[in-house]
Amino acid sequence: MENFNLFIKDLKTLISYKSVKGKSEDGAPFGAEIKNALQFFLRRAKELGLPTINYDNYMGEVFLGEGEEIGIIGHIDVVPSGNGWNTDPFSLSEKDGTYYGRGLSDDKTPLLLCLYILKELKDSKIPLTKKYRLFIGCDEESGWQDVEYAKTKTVFPSFGFSPDGDFPVSYAEKGMAIATFIFDKPKNFIDIKGGTVINAVCAFATLIAKDCGIDEKLLYKHNLMLKENNVIESIGVSAHGSHPELGKNAIKPLLSYMCDLGEDYNDAIDYLFNDKWGLNNIKTEQGNITLSPDVIKIENDKLKILCDVRFPAPITLDEIKTVFDKSGLCYDVSLKHDTQLVAKEGNLVSTLITAYNEITGNNSVPVSQSGSTFARVFPFGVAFGPEFPNENASIHEANEHLSEKNLLLTYEIYKKAIFDLNGVEKL
Ligand SMILES: [Zn+2]
Repeated sequence: MENFNLFIKDLKTLISYKSVKGKSEDGAPFGAEIKNALQFFLRRAKELGLPTINYDNYMGEVFLGEGEEIGIIGHIDVVPSGNGWNTDPFSLSEKDGTYYGRGLSDDKTPLLLCLYILKELKDSKIPLTKKYRLFIGCDEESGWQDVEYAKTKTVFPSFGFSPDGDFPVSYAEKGMAIATFIFDKPKNFIDIKGGTVINAVCAFATLIAKDCGIDEKLLYKHNLMLKENNVIESIGVSAHGSHPELGKNAIKPLLSYMCDLGEDYNDAIDYLFNDKWGLNNIKTEQGNITLSPDVIKIENDKLKILCDVRFPAPITLDEIKTVFDKSGLCYDVSLKHDTQLVAKEGNLVSTLITAYNEITGNNSVPVSQSGSTFARVFPFGVAFGPEFPNENASIHEANEHLSEKNLLLTYEIYKKAIFDLNGVEKL
């Protein structure tokens, strides 16, 4: 990589910004650190000879060329560092050929690589047939308010990729909805609570029983623990809500326990936990429907179970409602986002997968995924790297890292992809 030392110097500066979402201030909607990181990035782009736009510190843009538009979108905000680091998370460090720092893989390095590659493309004097628009998101980790704001100021390109997912390339993402199932509250129990977020398998839930709701034998049977003041605890294992099969839900044992004591939650267990609908068998090429009951609470005198529902294209939410209706259960459902699907054989996906395969020597095919990425900012957007299959960069965890080898490999893949897209007649 040309300019490698300069690249590392810029990366070092970028990592040093503690760009975790902070208090909104005048001119800094997501806090001063994110604004400073964005402004540094845009200043470096200008110094490298690329024009920029700042959407009022909600989002930035660097662009190059003229013609059919190609979008690239990453983000400069990061999740909090958390505990367990062996190094200062906001100071780039290197040990045995591996770099460490919060935001290294997610998503500062990929974003900066794309900037450096655009500069190389400019310097190459290759006649450009495309307009490249690199967007620097500032609120990817929290609520995508950056995207919402930028939409009021510009129109995003139809086609593009986000270097904020996995290799090889994911051409499809499932849709997501939140379904709330409503049941009568229990008679012999005062309260039930479990789950913190809608997109993670509930790993901890509690039930508060009246005296008649305590039965030692049944507690033992369901692996529950009795604490002070008739509080019953259930412990599970968390997993992403898009992969409930990888976790162990803490809500189910509490419902089973209550059923054994005469409460009627058999439907809740059968449908929500044992998939009586057979949702998991409804499949397309992009995978199957999943439902993860992640939050339970008593609200307005009713027991409510909130579920993370994921569905592959071309299935629609209406079709899922038709399935739900068969149960006669009372529910409410809202769409979080629709499915994303880009033609596998189209020029965008085929250019990216070819670049990946040629540089890595693999023979991979485009994949679909259950999670949601910035790719969906573009109507025909795909996620493309930077995580390699079977490698764990500790994204969102302590000691987030990236080996120099993978950094350079990612650079080569992105460079080939970005240069080759210019040669495509039409996306
Ligand atoms: Zn990210």
